[in-house]
Amino acid sequence: MKNKFLLFFAFTCFLFCNTNHFFAQKKYVVVIDAGHGGKDPGNTGNGYKEKSIVLKVALAIGNLLNNKKDVKVIYTRHTDVFIDLWKRGDIANHAKADLFVSIHCDSHTSNAYGAGTFVLGLRGNKKNLEIAKRENASILLEDNFEKRYKGFDPNSAESVIGLSLLQEENLDKSLVLASLIQTNFAFKLKRNDRKVKQDNFQVLRETIMPSVLVELGFLTNKREGRYLNSKKGQQEMAKAVADAIYKYINNLKLNTVADQNSAKPVNQNAIVYKVQLASSKTKLATKSYNFKGLKNVERVAVDSYFKYYFGNSGVYKEVQKSLKKAKAKGYKTAFIVAFKNGEKISLKEALKTK
Ligand SMILES: [Zn+2]
Repeated sequence: MKNKFLLFFAFTCFLFCNTNHFFAQKKYVVVIDAGHGGKDPGNTGNGYKEKSIVLKVALAIGNLLNNKKDVKVIYTRHTDVFIDLWKRGDIANHAKADLFVSIHCDSHTSNAYGAGTFVLGLRGNKKNLEIAKRENASILLEDNFEKRYKGFDPNSAESVIGLSLLQEENLDKSLVLASLIQTNFAFKLKRNDRKVKQDNFQVLRETIMPSVLVELGFLTNKREGRYLNSKKGQQEMAKAVADAIYKYINNLKLNTVADQNSAKPVNQNAIVYKVQLASSKTKLATKSYNFKGLKNVERVAVDSYFKYYFGNSGVYKEVQKSLKKAKAKGYKTAFIVAFKNGEKISLKEALKTK
């Protein structure tokens, strides 16, 4: 009797575990970056320490998101340590993160107050440049910074290098997240809305996924400094950011579903042309950030290789356009391949069929 029960139990567990595995959800990886740390205190308006406040808020954001079963949180730091700006981006890139959120507090000689969110841009207005310069100044504390940032002088307004195509691709998504965060600050918490802005923040240049930098408020403003240094203020601000991030993730999920629904039915008898971008032993996620910004890349396993195709079309002229696009993005060796009934045929044969 006992044995039977054990067997039944084992079998149930087996079923349960397998079902669970089968329905395993995609985990969205969110990197939360507390600005500054260690020898870099950030701004110290009214005697408050930016590095300590942003760490507490960052950890609180992470705690809230870790409660969601489809989110995985990674911190760039969870203690009071100095981390190079490039390293922060590196952590996110290696984790193949879906999102990078950097948390800061602002300072000013005036009584300015309010919360703002930044996305990467070449040049904002003069006011934003001052903020970017302050936040980028951490670089000067890094060993070897001249080598690392190749001619980037954080104190110079002219030190601006062009954005990569990938960063431009990510801009739309970054803007969506930034406006969700600002909406929560302004309407849920009634903070003074300093809006979504663009500027050349070094920490945002280092990442290859949608990224934002949040300025929670001004420590130099007496009232706001006190609020941001309080547990209540930190919890409220953290919840506003975490809720916005989760809303953004839910939007992503909806988009995925829409993409699947709009997939074109494939006529198996027709000739289909595609651009072969690459053939590799490495299994890459077919996300645009892995393919220099190209969208709708298809991955097909052939023997022990993965082939990556782009620009599926039954019209040769269309796929020629796709080839041009791929080459322009740097896939110099890309070429057109043809399929009939799902089988690869020679391009010559395919063109003769028409
Ligand atoms: Zn800062």
